[in-house]
Amino acid sequence: MTKSPLLKRDPSTRNVQWVFLGCPGVGKGTYASRLSNFLGVPHIATGDLVRDEISSSGPLASKLKEIVNHGKLVSDEIIISLLSKHLEAGAAKGESGFILDGFPRTIRQAEILEGVTDIDLVINLKLREDALLAKCLGRRICSECGGNYNVACIDLKDEHGMSGMYMPPLLPPPQCSSKLITRADDTEEVVKGRLRIYNEMTQPVEEFYRSRGKLLEFDLPGGIPESWPKLLQALNLDDHDDKKSAAA
Ligand code: AMP
Repeated sequence: MTKSPLLKRDPSTRNVQWVFLGCPGVGKGTYASRLSNFLGVPHIATGDLVRDEISSSGPLASKLKEIVNHGKLVSDEIIISLLSKHLEAGAAKGESGFILDGFPRTIRQAEILEGVTDIDLVINLKLREDALLAKCLGRRICSECGGNYNVACIDLKDEHGMSGMYMPPLLPPPQCSSKLITRADDTEEVVKGRLRIYNEMTQPVEEFYRSRGKLLEFDLPGGIPESWPKLLQALNLDDHDDKKSAAA
């Protein structure tokens, strides 16, 4: 990743440079994408960059497919090269700021990122592990429009057998419902492996940012209608003018 003058600008004169951390299935994509619409900055999900590379059938495609389908991490070199290319193309189009989702996932990636740009804030989304598995297994994507949905109805009880957390399904509109596909890495065995890799390789990244005073911990209280306004509050964005249109 090369140093870009665009990325090193004074935070008061540029768009936000934020990172979303959190286990697979926690909802990083959902909330990063909403915030990106809300703030008008690009949402960059490295998982999407990897999936785009796989569908492009380029030289790396079959190697990447094998890694992703087994729930393993792509090498730091490859992921940084994909991200750098994407950021350079964005800068050439005049884009500034970003909300990163799925990067950094290793301490080395965090160190490299720190060497080239300033991260203003890292939002660490958290959810109970039993909900994470259910959310990954319920995840569906429309093969035509790329929309993300979830067929899982999560109703977790607390220690008294009462409803502790309720997350209703996020069902597709009628035009998408016959075109839903499941990610090859959203099977129970692979998700459990991805959760283990997160704990081993990515959890230390939380500490990396905590020790720099950049980590905002956010425990998701439930589904989107409950969590989104609370997230905006936690980010001091709840009186932002565009709140209603972005949440739509
Ligand atoms: P995601 O959509 O974020 O769950 O990412 C899907 C897959 O892409 C991951 O399981 C990894 O194989 C790969 N991937 C995405 N981001 C990274 C990253 N920062 N480092 C290594 N591998 C990544």
